[in-house]
Amino acid sequence: MLSRYTRYRGRAANANPLPDGMRRDTRRHTKHILRPTYELVDAYVVKPTDAAWGRFRRGYLALLEARFQKDRAPFDELAEQATSANVFLGCSCPTKKNPIHGRCHTFLALEFMKKKYPGLTVIIPAPRPKGHNTNATPNMYAEAQTWSPFKGCEFDCVYCSPSFKRHSKRQKRLCPDCYKYTPHCHENRLRRIPSAPIIFVCGNADISFCPPDFARRIIERIVEHNARAPHKTYYLQSKQPAYFEPFLSHLPENVILLTTLETNRDNGYGTISKAPPPSVRYEQFKALNYPRKVVTVEPVLDFDLRTFVSWIRKIGPEYVWLGFNSKPKSVTLPEPSEDKVQRFAEKLLDAGIEVRGKTLRGVELPATSA
Ligand code: SF4
Ligand SMILES: [Zn+2]
Ligand SMILES: [Zn+2]
Repeated sequence: MLSRYTRYRGRAANANPLPDGMRRDTRRHTKHILRPTYELVDAYVVKPTDAAWGRFRRGYLALLEARFQKDRAPFDELAEQATSANVFLGCSCPTKKNPIHGRCHTFLALEFMKKKYPGLTVIIPAPRPKGHNTNATPNMYAEAQTWSPFKGCEFDCVYCSPSFKRHSKRQKRLCPDCYKYTPHCHENRLRRIPSAPIIFVCGNADISFCPPDFARRIIERIVEHNARAPHKTYYLQSKQPAYFEPFLSHLPENVILLTTLETNRDNGYGTISKAPPPSVRYEQFKALNYPRKVVTVEPVLDFDLRTFVSWIRKIGPEYVWLGFNSKPKSVTLPEPSEDKVQRFAEKLLDAGIEVRGKTLRGVELPATSA
């Protein structure tokens, strides 16, 4: 598998390898076959307009093509490496000078490799929600829509009732099961996948309550829909990640698996939720042999810094969603200090793990607020 990652300032080049792959720095001063030239980068960053990006794109792809024509061996070698391992192309974008996510040569490099090596699994990371660089993204996935052929959950998280459940109550008359949050399927919704670029599959539910046969049909629909709309990203989430195990080999590569870990602490967790305790969830999620994972640390509960960081590193997610309880008036939770959450975010960033934030209060994400 070939993908990209964001390098962060102040980190030694070979420090903290991603748990699950080989990182390759491809910035302009390196010798990497996919590096851009100084001229191309300078011409773009001096005034990073849409037109300038268009010129960068054309120039850079032409540069790669020329290198490829001259000597394709290093490209072949990279493709071969990425066949047997997870290889990540690194760059420091987005940066202050180049703040728009997706405008980095590594995205173009992935496109190029995908075209030249159609058999290779290339994962081009999903675009970030708009406005993410502020610390106050209003929705968890601003460009996402929820597709709910299955609904309901019996984990009864205390922080769920004031948010999701109230929403479903509006549907009291439409569907009594939706109202009561009883796990159930909406067969007729299978056909209609929303048009958004990011699809949150069964957002108002925990999919582990879904009958496996129906989950299989949901996945089949995604595969089918990919023939027409291949550029969507689908998120499947569960607080019981072992549920995904039998489906792993059927998931297309634009499906990301997600679990919530609000903390590493099991002690007292029983008063928060009936879901498997954090340590069980962690073990289950880590054990899934699947390259695309995201961890949601939201609403963050008080944790043990070292243990929690090491858990996340061992899971090796594409990124971490981090946020405090967004409804402190409705529910009070045992929360960590802002300072502790700040250190947590920094440690993840140091480990090369991207952190995206929501309801961060005073916490600043260094890479995005720079
Ligand atoms: S697991 Fe998710 S859907 Fe289920 S109660 Fe908790 S927050 Fe709500
Ligand atoms: Zn870049
Ligand atoms: Zn319903």
